[in-house]
Amino acid sequence: MSVRVCHGPATRARTAAVVGATMLAALLGVSSCMVPATPAAPRAVSRTASSLPSTPQSSTAQSPPPVSTPAAPSAATPNATAPSTAPVAPPTPPPNPLAGKVVVIDPGHNGANAANPAAINKQVPDGAGGTKACNTTGTATNDGYAEHAFTWDLANKLKSLLESKGITVVMTRQDDDGVGPCVNVRAQIGNDAHANAVVSIHGDGAAAGSHGFFCMTTALAPGGAAIKAQSAGLAGKVRDAIAANGVMPVANYEGTNGVNGTRSDLAGLNLSIVPTTMCELGNMRSAIDSAIQKSDTGRAQIAAGLANGVFAYLAG
Ligand code: ZN
Repeated sequence: MSVRVCHGPATRARTAAVVGATMLAALLGVSSCMVPATPAAPRAVSRTASSLPSTPQSSTAQSPPPVSTPAAPSAATPNATAPSTAPVAPPTPPPNPLAGKVVVIDPGHNGANAANPAAINKQVPDGAGGTKACNTTGTATNDGYAEHAFTWDLANKLKSLLESKGITVVMTRQDDDGVGPCVNVRAQIGNDAHANAVVSIHGDGAAAGSHGFFCMTTALAPGGAAIKAQSAGLAGKVRDAIAANGVMPVANYEGTNGVNGTRSDLAGLNLSIVPTTMCELGNMRSAIDSAIQKSDTGRAQIAAGLANGVFAYLAG
């Protein structure tokens, strides 16, 4: 009786019959039945959890493993499939906020101005109700490095840096051996281009003890209050960038912390209706500044500062 009960369910029954028979055998005092009954347990649960052969007594004991076991794969599955699908999607390049922007670079003066006084002394509107000379010869270092050559080289270095970022550059003159153009024409070039920014490049001719750079905006508001504020923003960004790269300090003789917005005698600024700044990038009569201006490395650093200032302004 006891042998038949114990072995019968172990080989034929699968779940409840095993439990019932085992319990009955236990009640009858047939302790040897517990040994052959155990092989039936792994058979009953082997489909779900091979590590749980000792749970014949209830379905609640079986519930946790099936719940927790699928939970891990299901959580891991999305993570595992995400990387495999990511390469399939085409990468989206970040937008270039500078692409399509237009910057006008105005290299001060020109190489043949000195030889053509009649042309450059012609009077043109100054944007403040009066007139002034079409252009000037510009200054030079004490040993003859001319301002027009300095501004021309600097402008071309700046042009390359801006164009490398997708900016469209318009120059107010195309060479360094011509005459002019007049200051009112230079301003008109920026206006006609609907420039996002105009940067006019100069070297100053102040007293020998004066040194450093500064950027100017007009005290007038030819383009309205909004453009006036944008010009101030442009000047500030350029000032920040040049000061940050350390090529030369802000001027010790004009402006406040490298910016001067109080002048109304600069026709090129007075006639511009787009954001514009004019920078005096060192004093050519200063031994300190002229050494930087005459150095190709120094000019490259100044150009980098100008470019970074323009980038910061346009990106803002
Ligand atoms: Zn100048």
